[in-house]
Amino acid sequence: MVIVWTGKLRMIIKMSSDVDHILRLQKKRAVWMNIAEVVSTLSSCIRGNKGAVLIRDNMIISTGYNGTSRGVLNCDEGGCDRCNDDTIESGKDLDKCICNHAEENSVVQAAYLGVSTKHAEMFCTHKPCLPCVKLLINAGVYRVFYKKEYNVVYPPQLSACIDIVKIVDGVPYEVEI
Ligand SMILES: [Zn+2]
Ligand SMILES: [Zn+2]
Repeated sequence: MVIVWTGKLRMIIKMSSDVDHILRLQKKRAVWMNIAEVVSTLSSCIRGNKGAVLIRDNMIISTGYNGTSRGVLNCDEGGCDRCNDDTIESGKDLDKCICNHAEENSVVQAAYLGVSTKHAEMFCTHKPCLPCVKLLINAGVYRVFYKKEYNVVYPPQLSACIDIVKIVDGVPYEVEI
């Protein structure tokens, strides 16, 4: 069964006894995505602000935003040479970038605090990059919801290991139950 919830319009394709449960879950998912967006405002990276929230058993276990490592000067204070080099185009020379990604940081924050990420879901403001997807798979994250596009194509071997679902504005979530 598929339910599409637009926020204003609830379109239930097939009735079920647990529709209320699903709609409550959809509402939570909308909130978790909003939290990822709020968390992204903490980012100091001058190449874009990104946020991520990790959910396990319907609870937020950690959050992350992109930026330089703890103890390193913030990106917007000149901490990352690559981000601060205007001649480097978006998405290029990422091996020189010392900003951690929001997705990495949310997994790392859970590890720092000793919380398992096994069988977690992630809500991201942006489509995760390839290295982050590899990391998320091994961290036990089984599904990622994201909102904004990033120019990346995943090899089928990785796509087979994790669900990466785009949230379309106005029609935020489609879920199969
Ligand atoms: Zn940066
Ligand atoms: Zn990444």
